Amino acid sequence: MSYIIALDAGTTSVRAMLYDTEKKKFIASAQQEVGQIFPQPGWVEQDADEIYFKIAYVLNSCVTKVGAEHIAGIGIANQRESVVFWDRVTGEPACNAIIWQCRRTSAFCDAIPADIRAMIREKSGLHADAYFSASKIRWGLENVPRVQELQRQGRLCVGTVDAYLLFKLTEGRTFATDYTNASRTMLFNINSLKWDETLLSYFGVPADILPEVRPCTARMGEVQIGGEKIPIAGVAGDQQAALVGQACIGCGDGKITYGTGLFMLFNTGEKCIRSDSGMLATIGYSFGNRVTYALEGSVFNAGSSVQWLRDELGFLNSSAESEAIAASVPDTGGVFFVPAFTGLGAPFWRGDARGLLCGITRGTGRAHIVRAVLESIAYSARDLAESMQKDSGIELNGIRCDGGASANSFLMQFQADVLGVNIDRPVERESTALGAVLLCALSLGIIGEEELSSFRTCERLFRPSENWEHFDRLYRQYRKAVERTLLR
Ligand code: ADP
Repeated sequence: MSYIIALDAGTTSVRAMLYDTEKKKFIASAQQEVGQIFPQPGWVEQDADEIYFKIAYVLNSCVTKVGAEHIAGIGIANQRESVVFWDRVTGEPACNAIIWQCRRTSAFCDAIPADIRAMIREKSGLHADAYFSASKIRWGLENVPRVQELQRQGRLCVGTVDAYLLFKLTEGRTFATDYTNASRTMLFNINSLKWDETLLSYFGVPADILPEVRPCTARMGEVQIGGEKIPIAGVAGDQQAALVGQACIGCGDGKITYGTGLFMLFNTGEKCIRSDSGMLATIGYSFGNRVTYALEGSVFNAGSSVQWLRDELGFLNSSAESEAIAASVPDTGGVFFVPAFTGLGAPFWRGDARGLLCGITRGTGRAHIVRAVLESIAYSARDLAESMQKDSGIELNGIRCDGGASANSFLMQFQADVLGVNIDRPVERESTALGAVLLCALSLGIIGEEELSSFRTCERLFRPSENWEHFDRLYRQYRKAVERTLLR
């Protein structure tokens, strides 16, 4: 019974990964792409049935590798904020799931008055935006006849993707979610750890259609496969699962995922910090009833600017090539790039800002521009890290990195230099799936909290160079370029 399966229900694909807790590594995986539906510009939906059937398929593929009787448990990590409406009696979805990217409720959210925004921020830790679940649930209750019919019949269930999968996998026996997923709905009070009466009433959401909220390490139920009952234990939203998978369990620990965008989570311990610079306060994880809070910040464009170099400018054959090209010049020759393709997020919050390339001379070449683009990713991360440290008064211990662009050693070294802390790159970069495995192992008592760090091995440590003043000066120059993108 030394195997655990992580189910990772992402936005573009779902995966099951089979982990051997004795060998401390993943030994098999199965993946299925999930379609997205775009009924109108700015609207994004998915078929919840498709998500479930594909999860069931990949789960079965992993189970058959070793046999159901050898699997100790299943952990779940999932795309956050997306909303599923379903029938409590049949388990059938009432309509397509409304996905986190969907902007259909942005007019409603933008019109939320300042005093209500302050109340929302205080209670949920989030800033009032269409991204989170609350306004999406409200929209479904107001606009979808089947949702209204189920509500009248007292049969409506509404939840995030984890809650729907738990309900389906346990054949309707469990209607629950975990603290981290609940903390992304904008209906959950992250201090009292309960659905919040005032938020529910503002968004017109009755409490009885929502799942029970349990700790990340709670036993959630059992799934019956091949005559065996396998416990489902360990649930978290994907970014929070990654925080656990990176063993960022000390106050001041941070992780950055360098993917298409850049996501930073900063462990603030038992303190729930309200950020003055627009970072989100969120639940990092809970081991039993002990909750650890985190600050979260994201940058919309990170790896995507490397894709831009590759696909639009034709400067690269592959994203990986950016490393050698950037390293072929000693510096950018005074060139700065601001990756504001779709506006600037935290801490600037200017949706109207656009990208900028500046400081170009007659001597500027491809390598300088490629290097400036990579450096801009590191500077954006420093924007987040500085805000988080200022808001919390907690010093950053170091960064643990993952995501596609963390493979770029030039970028990781530059990040260490610009942040002035160590960047620790793990051997196993599937932090989200590993987090789901570890939460499951904790829940089942297979491992103790003190063992968490032993499941993560450092592949390479990037230490900041001695020359802090030099890199600090470069960062200040970058901030001047950012100011230019903010000019109206
Ligand atoms: P996501 O999960 O957001 O789709 P991934 O974690 O798979 O993203 O990372 C893919 C992104 O990382 C792409 O935008 C790609 O351009 C970038 N990327 C991948 N490898 C490298 C590299 N070696 N150097 C720089 N960027 C990279």
